[in-house]
Amino acid sequence: MKAVLELRSVSKHYAGGVTAMDDVSLKITEGELLAIVGPSGSGKSTLLNIIGTLDLATEGTAEVGGQDVVRLSDRSLAALRGSRLGFVFQQFHLSDGLSAAQNVATGLLYAGIRRRERRPLALAALDRVGLSHRVDHLPHQLSGGERQRVAIARAVVNEPELVLADEPTGVLDTANGTAILDLLVELNRDGTTIAVITHDRDIAARLPRRVEMRDGRIVSDTRAGGWS
Ligand code: ADP
Repeated sequence: MKAVLELRSVSKHYAGGVTAMDDVSLKITEGELLAIVGPSGSGKSTLLNIIGTLDLATEGTAEVGGQDVVRLSDRSLAALRGSRLGFVFQQFHLSDGLSAAQNVATGLLYAGIRRRERRPLALAALDRVGLSHRVDHLPHQLSGGERQRVAIARAVVNEPELVLADEPTGVLDTANGTAILDLLVELNRDGTTIAVITHDRDIAARLPRRVEMRDGRIVSDTRAGGWS
């Protein structure tokens, strides 16, 4: 299977002698659904930033879709993020003044897709997340779970090679959190590669692969079991 991401011996040091990531190697292949799990301070955000090309490693190499990110200019990195990666955040990060469909269409801005083609693609993505009946609603007219569905539609509208979901259920109640996780599992079954970053071991336990971090290192990487 094709690697969508490959980190080789990546370390990240900060001034003052802080090592946020220490010799991390990680390969994510097409079609995977994995959790990157660990307690606060274990290095998850640092890893997410490096995978998402928002930050560069101090040592080691990072390849996204076979491209070595160290060699790319800021402009090329932005293009790579826009075309190959999809992001889902804990706090949704939707634009208040835009409808659900318009928010989703912003996921196509870097893809070179013509304006009149964006809305049908946004509507199709909203349909995939079960929000066909809310396309013209503004974020404040939607529940938390619905807002996260819009954010997920925005992340997948461009059919990225990898979706990075950072604590996607963090601000939701249990029922809505479970529904969002179910949706991610369903999108993965349809072929989307997804990494969920979480401190929650129960969430990690529901995913087919679990990469566990502690003190900036990967301490286990298990693929046991299936979906629960
Ligand atoms: P997590 O996301 O698992 O909570 P982080 O990646 O945020 O972990 O942090 C890992 C370690 O790196 C922590 O000890 C944190 O204090 C440190 N760290 C993170 N960012 C910085 C920074 N910009 N400067 C200095 N230390 C940092």
